[in-house]
Amino acid sequence: MIRDVECIIGLEIHAQMNTKSKIFCSCPVSEAPPNTNVCEVCLGYPGSKPRLNRKVFENGIKVAKALNCKVPDNIFFSRKSYFYPDMTKNFQITQYEIPVGIKGYLTIKWKGDDLKIRIRRAHLEEDPGKLVHVGGDITSSEYTLIDYNRAGTPLVEIVTEPDFTNPEQVREFLSKLRAILEHLNVYDSEMIMKADANISVKGGARVEVKNITGFNNIMKALEYEYNRQRIMAKQGIFIKQQETRAYSDKSKMTKSLRIKESEADYGYIFEPDLSWQTMTSKRLKNITDNMSELPDERIKRFVKIYKLTNDTSYVLVYTDKALADFFEECAKKIKNYSLLANWTTTHLLKCLNYNNENIKKSKITPLLFAEFLEKISKGELSERLGKELVKELVSTGRNINAIMKMHKIKVWKNSDIKKIIEKVVKKNEKAVSDYKNGNNNSINFLIGEVLKETKYQASVEKIREIIMSVMK
Ligand SMILES: [Zn+2]
Repeated sequence: MIRDVECIIGLEIHAQMNTKSKIFCSCPVSEAPPNTNVCEVCLGYPGSKPRLNRKVFENGIKVAKALNCKVPDNIFFSRKSYFYPDMTKNFQITQYEIPVGIKGYLTIKWKGDDLKIRIRRAHLEEDPGKLVHVGGDITSSEYTLIDYNRAGTPLVEIVTEPDFTNPEQVREFLSKLRAILEHLNVYDSEMIMKADANISVKGGARVEVKNITGFNNIMKALEYEYNRQRIMAKQGIFIKQQETRAYSDKSKMTKSLRIKESEADYGYIFEPDLSWQTMTSKRLKNITDNMSELPDERIKRFVKIYKLTNDTSYVLVYTDKALADFFEECAKKIKNYSLLANWTTTHLLKCLNYNNENIKKSKITPLLFAEFLEKISKGELSERLGKELVKELVSTGRNINAIMKMHKIKVWKNSDIKKIIEKVVKKNEKAVSDYKNGNNNSINFLIGEVLKETKYQASVEKIREIIMSVMK
């Protein structure tokens, strides 16, 4: 265990926006054969002029507001100059001086308290094309192909202040950010999220781990770099010069790429082909008026409407927006909300995680799950068997009646249970009289006997309920 080394982490997160077309032209953003979703704008032909996708801009404003940022009165785009084959214009259109949002914050839960992470800015930009290194990676491949379908895909970049002190806080933050973007309907969980992470220990220079793709890799890269620098610092070794490193998914390590250039080295200039965006209060109101419910508001609503605990609502909303949507669809069909929430956040979620699936990809539907829980709720199926059968609901998409029939599991009606209870009561006169004389343990013995007779298929709660009424 390494202690006493203070760490500072800041993030730049790039999330792809889910608009149908690109940010500065009308080419579709979709899967297609290489270099087919392209036009003169996203290929950077001389004389071609970009046009701003209004939806992307409005989405950017919504993100800024959701992150408690100030939206400047006049917003513009800039050219970030660089030479690289993934961007034929030799510059990328982005925002630098005045982006869609500045000086915001997001509050995360940390050790039972609220921790405020400051947001330096949120800005919009175009993604470059994709380089395909044939037969290897950038250093080992024989040649490289370029697919410009991706060039011009809209991205929102969110830059935090260096307010994190460990990777776990980053995990909280990213989960919350992802949920916000999903709830704003500007991002889908299937889409790419990338990050550049700045990380340093007190007394050392900053290391930037560039271009880490996907939530899990971001976490792994951070944990690796966090431990590497802390172990070095413990031995009195500090990083002297700002450095850029890359994370390898294969080796699960970071390696040095170059000594870092600063942002100003890119030579930003104003983009003259795009007009200034003036944000009047009326325009801002029009955009923010139709903003959807944000995750924290949704949690409050879950607590109020469905009478769930804060923690359960938190799991439903922050695990995956689709899971919260699924819960609400089920809640239209089954009124036992606490049973529904409990099964959704435990057994169902465990099952999805085990199969490496999410609720969207899974074959289970709200109707199938509600029918299944109805059986549990009525005591026609025991919780114990239910835990086994829910796996089949998820993997096959069959309804619970079909699954029970297939496994020859009887639906235990009250009258059937009653008959067995009568039989058990007759056979165990001593236990019955013990119970009547105040020995509460004997009731559990009797329930156990009934359960055995039902081949452990009936619900314990149901048996208890009936046996108590019979023994009165
Ligand atoms: Zn285009």
